[in-house]
Amino acid sequence: MIPPIASRFVAGEEPATAFEHTRQTNADDVGVILNLLGEHYHERAPADADAAAYESLIADLGKTELDGCVSVKPSQLGIDVGPDVFAENYRRVVAAGAEHDVFVWCDMEDATTTDTTLEAFTEVAAEYPWQVGLCVQANLRRTRADLEALLDVPGKLRLVKGAYDEDEEIAYTEKTAVDEAYREGLRLLFDARDRGIAVGSHDPEMIALAAELHERHGGDYEVQMLMGVREEAQRRLASEGVEVWQYAPYGDKWLSYFYRRVRERKENLAFAARAVLGV
Ligand code: FAD
Repeated sequence: MIPPIASRFVAGEEPATAFEHTRQTNADDVGVILNLLGEHYHERAPADADAAAYESLIADLGKTELDGCVSVKPSQLGIDVGPDVFAENYRRVVAAGAEHDVFVWCDMEDATTTDTTLEAFTEVAAEYPWQVGLCVQANLRRTRADLEALLDVPGKLRLVKGAYDEDEEIAYTEKTAVDEAYREGLRLLFDARDRGIAVGSHDPEMIALAAELHERHGGDYEVQMLMGVREEAQRRLASEGVEVWQYAPYGDKWLSYFYRRVRERKENLAFAARAVLGV
């Protein structure tokens, strides 16, 4: 069982608790992106098992009225076992999504996986237009060119700052440079696209810039934030008419995910502790 201190960030261990979290979050007009926790598999069996778990989750989600979708991780679907294993499992999950009308996002992991992930995404987007989305990381120097190449691919794009420590040679490592690359990425997306823009950030400045660019250029966009982070802002934006999605992980591998959230920001632990102690 997940202790209360971690349950702020994780929607339980089972699909049933994840669906219940989705139902409650939908009540505030916030959609939920479900992610089955699991990553960095070096054997085929767990990657195949997680692909099957997503197929089953998607079939069940498709039978509900819930406003939900899924997001998969390449290393969970076998990218470290081999690009073919990942491509095969990813296609399985996307085909299930298309069959049950459930949107499928793909997270982006460390820079050694970028090319393979981009290639697989471009292929499935051609086969299942606008039923898939991909995360792109503003901290990578290559991202401007990747975004330009992705503009005409029929899939949504979630721009994030980037969560992986990468070498100076391939990535901006100063926060100010990453922020500037993020702003540039948003400007490019709103300039060139009229749909499929996702702002994956808790940063009030980036969210305000997206609203400003939307005002100037039009274009459908959504804001995505993590479960347990700035949830009051998620509800406020949704009440103002912005499309908001919350990324909610679930599953029994919750411990390392919880530690990551706490490492990123110590206030998260203080907040969770206050919630538990009721102070
Ligand atoms: P930061 O630059 O960390 O902070 C900027 C400002 O935002 C802060 O000053 C504060 O005002 C506010 N803020 C940030 N965090 C908090 C908090 N905990 N509580 C209160 N205020 C806060 N990364 C990847 O590499 N690959 C992925 O696939 C990926 N998917 C993601 C999906 C979603 C939906 C989200 C939200 C993030 C994802 N990330 C992913 C993580 C992302 O790359 C960043 O590491 C993470 O979002 C932190 O950057 P930020 O833009 O939110 O804000």
